[in-house]
Amino acid sequence: MSTLRFHAIKKSLSAKPVTVEEKERRSAIFGKHVFNEDSMRQYLTKDAFAGVMNAIRYGKKIDRAIADQVSSSMKDWALSKGVTHYTHWFQPLTGTTAEKHDAFFETIGDGMAIEKFGGSQLVQQEPDASSFPSGGIRNTFEARGYTAWDPTSPAFIYGTTLCIPTIFVAYTGEALDYKTPLLRALQAVDSAATAVCKYFDKNVKKVTSSLGWEQEYFLIDKTLAATRPDIALTGRTLLGHSAAKGQQLDDHYFGSIPSRALSYMRELETECMLLGIPVKTRHNEVAPNQFELAPIFEEANLAVDHNSLLMDIMGRVASRHNFKVLFHEKPFAGINGSGKHNNWSLSTDTGVNLLAPGKTPMSNLQFLTFFINTIKAVNKHEALLRATISSASNDHRLGANEAPPAIISVFIGEQLTKVLEELEGVTKGKLSPQEKTELKLNVVGKIPDVLLDNTDRNRTSPFAFTGNKFEFRAVGSTANCGDPMTVLNTIVAKQLKDFKMEVDKLIDEKGLKKDEAIFNVLREYIKASKRILFEGNGYGEAWEKEAKKRGLSNNKTTPEALKAKISKDSMALFEEMQVMSNIETQARYEIEIEAYIMHVQIEGRVLGDIARNHIVPTAVRYQNTLIENVKGLKEIFDDKFKEVSKEQLNLIEQISNHIENINANVTKMINERKKANAIEDVEKKAQAYCFKVKPLFEDIRYHCDKLELLVDDEIWPLTKYRELLFTR
Ligand code: ADP
Ligand code: MG
Repeated sequence: MSTLRFHAIKKSLSAKPVTVEEKERRSAIFGKHVFNEDSMRQYLTKDAFAGVMNAIRYGKKIDRAIADQVSSSMKDWALSKGVTHYTHWFQPLTGTTAEKHDAFFETIGDGMAIEKFGGSQLVQQEPDASSFPSGGIRNTFEARGYTAWDPTSPAFIYGTTLCIPTIFVAYTGEALDYKTPLLRALQAVDSAATAVCKYFDKNVKKVTSSLGWEQEYFLIDKTLAATRPDIALTGRTLLGHSAAKGQQLDDHYFGSIPSRALSYMRELETECMLLGIPVKTRHNEVAPNQFELAPIFEEANLAVDHNSLLMDIMGRVASRHNFKVLFHEKPFAGINGSGKHNNWSLSTDTGVNLLAPGKTPMSNLQFLTFFINTIKAVNKHEALLRATISSASNDHRLGANEAPPAIISVFIGEQLTKVLEELEGVTKGKLSPQEKTELKLNVVGKIPDVLLDNTDRNRTSPFAFTGNKFEFRAVGSTANCGDPMTVLNTIVAKQLKDFKMEVDKLIDEKGLKKDEAIFNVLREYIKASKRILFEGNGYGEAWEKEAKKRGLSNNKTTPEALKAKISKDSMALFEEMQVMSNIETQARYEIEIEAYIMHVQIEGRVLGDIARNHIVPTAVRYQNTLIENVKGLKEIFDDKFKEVSKEQLNLIEQISNHIENINANVTKMINERKKANAIEDVEKKAQAYCFKVKPLFEDIRYHCDKLELLVDDEIWPLTKYRELLFTR
């Protein structure tokens, strides 16, 4: 083993787990660092409290006088907890979170100073926006964008900073972040769903979208990770031969959590508790050193914020435990990658989960309405949904055979399939009294019983119904949930809006009763959405063929998939639902396609460097040792020389062959990169990176990995898979 690797491993093994003392019950520290309802009640005046609550519940604007009161109380609360700075906290389209800290401290002349935080500082800030991606919305000379307070997501304290969740928009009003379109989509689904709910219950005033994400990740020793330029710069290994042992024994999944990892998790969970992130579940995942963490679900906007915040905290806490967290969707070849399941549902302010079957036929009809409309929406916008989860890193996972395919389909289980089949047979137009009774008793009425034993969960489906929610499983582990949640809620909102119009039309023009009209429309929806329903093995080749026949898209790469975002249909959808203007949609497309190009470009550079200045020189060094050895053998053995040095000569030749291939392919890749870089059109450039540059990675890697098996372990410069994955 090389000295570098040896010392790295020695250091990692001696890293003691930091034991966290949990003195207090988790429920007692939950939300202690959040300016939540509890602290607001304590610190705000009655008026201010009512103002904020109205903003949270009904989206009412907060006027300036109230904002002044809120900021002042927020400051008092924060100061009481030792806070010195505040920041607007937002999620620009870079995929990370952004913050710029300002001190409360202000001088007031005569050598005196005070702590100050006014309403205007709470409500709006102008960070220098020129270095955030804008997709051409803002030219740099108009580098003005502003952040604006989102009262629906509570302020929190991290370290000694008060963080205020905000939206981030250009001065011309276009969204430059994930949150703004999400809030608009949530508004759209609220109004469309509330209108549909009124068919069933006039008291419903608001529908909330919920999200429960499950975050998968790898924990790698920090020192070992630092020895790998690929992990440091791209978050994944670009080369490395598989370890002799991988995940084939299934001995990691749900196994006992290694003590150092557990110690990290406990500290992380404590931080989460303080910040009001309701983490609940932790366990080992399938691959070695892979884990998962999941909270209790929350309102979607808050859940998205919490996931972004969590990813940030995970990195920091990991560092304290000498770990590096890898969020990449495919950090290691040959073993499972990571995803972020997005569990999604809709619920009313009267406490009803609209995607959970109820106890009465009427509540079940409501369930079926939302259930079928969601399926229809996914069917119509499957390509768009696929586009929202595309990224250079998720391309490595989607379509690989342990991950959801790049084809979007919906799994609903055997029993609900039967229910839909029966509904499909409903008579057109008015129903006879017998038919109505039959429907109520035998179809709609039976759902709750039926679902109880509907435990079959198809793990290969990218979009599965799991009893009382849909689970969007194809989302990447690095992704900001904001984008998939924006799209899902928007397509469902649009679908519900159309549904309401169709039902009303049947009632008004054909004189149908409300439930007859609903049955009629649902029947047509079931017929129209059949191609999206799939219960079989999503990983199989047979499904690819079948999906093609059904006309479902199967976009395996980001440049292909992203196009659906700017299709006529998608642009019209976002405009109609007032989620994104065409300018915003177009800008996002550009940002994403550029991000794709840059990711592949960086990977190409890193791989070329490692191959040329780590792998090839090491191989040459080892080859020279062999050559010396052969020369010596020749001196000693003379005539028998060929026979005794057969193996060495063979090795020397093999090494030459791999070196030659590496050099040729790296040169080829550099040339392809140059060609790609010369292309003006970003779409074509992305295609060149995808189809000309990236495929060469595989060839380069192949030969490097072969060399790893041949070259003396003692001089191999890169930490190996077995060391990265099995050091705990
Ligand atoms: P798994 O998918 O691992 O089997 P569960 O089905 O228990 O796990 O739940 C997964 C996630 O779904 C949890 O994070 C949970 O909070 C979330 N969840 C449960 N109900 C809802 C809901 N109504 N809306 C959104 N998320 C939900
Ligand atoms: Mg899940």
